[in-house]
Amino acid sequence: MLPQLHRQPWMDSDIETFRDQVRRYIAAEMAPHLPAWREQGYVPRETWRPFGEMGFMLPEMPEAYGGTGASIAYQLVVQDELTRAEMPNNVQVNSIAAHYIMDYGTEEQKQRWLPKLSSGEMLLGIAMTEPGCGTDLKAIATRARRDGDHYVIDGAKTFITNGYTCNLLIVVARTGEAGSRGLSLIVVETENLPGFRVGRLLDKIGLHASDTAELFFDGVRVPVDQVLGASKGLVSSS
Ligand SMILES: Cc1cc2nc3c(=O)[nH]c(=O)nc-3n(C[C@H](O)[C@H](O)[C@H](O)COP(=O)(O)OP(=O)(O)OC[C@H]3O[C@@H](n4cnc5c(N)ncnc54)[C@H](O)[C@@H]3O)c2cc1C
Repeated sequence: MLPQLHRQPWMDSDIETFRDQVRRYIAAEMAPHLPAWREQGYVPRETWRPFGEMGFMLPEMPEAYGGTGASIAYQLVVQDELTRAEMPNNVQVNSIAAHYIMDYGTEEQKQRWLPKLSSGEMLLGIAMTEPGCGTDLKAIATRARRDGDHYVIDGAKTFITNGYTCNLLIVVARTGEAGSRGLSLIVVETENLPGFRVGRLLDKIGLHASDTAELFFDGVRVPVDQVLGASKGLVSSS
């Protein structure tokens, strides 16, 4: 029996109705699978399609991008209910990373990816950490070299949440000088992508159903229009 929630100051009756829908959905459709998901170390990506169709993936996105234009409180409620049911943090990372696209993407990029992330057709991860670089992100060594209309990515990432199951990834890669100013964010569609490889599904002391993986990039070619933040001067080149 789950404990009764105390009423947060930002709750209203609409959010409570939404919370109730999310809670009942998780209990009926997801909780029975949790032991198997923990055992295998990941939640199958197909799980997020009906979750998205229910409007639970990115409710806070504008309607034009597949959301309902709801306040961020609705995303918090989804996170709260997933956590209470001991579900992994896949949706949390998906949502955090989707806001990079929302905030730094061009209109074309938003139209291209956000509706699919809202519907659960796509699942997003963000790849910063590397075998030789964690907290100190300015040491990132994964490089994206410009070659005509493409970037060519070489390097390795580790500890990436959703790394095993996602089909969209924001890769933090070095496109310019050493240090933090030489880094850019490149959106990579990973399905059937030559040179991209998912390594080990990493074991952890907790979050057993959350896939945390190694990723390898060996000459991965990504069109330059998939870099985020170009119009805001966030793309670095040397
Ligand atoms: C379950 C899980 C999921 C993750 N998901 C992702 C993901 O989706 N994407 C991603 O990119 N990464 C992910 N990570 C990686 C995570 O971001 C890194 O583990 C984190 O950045 C710390 O890096 P590190 O493990 O290399 O530790 P280090 O950077 O080696 O730090 C080790 C310790 O030293 C301390 N420390 C480091 N530098 C200093 C300093 N200058 N001064 C004082 N103290 C310092 C740190 O606070 C920490 O306590 C995940 C990790 C885990 C465990």
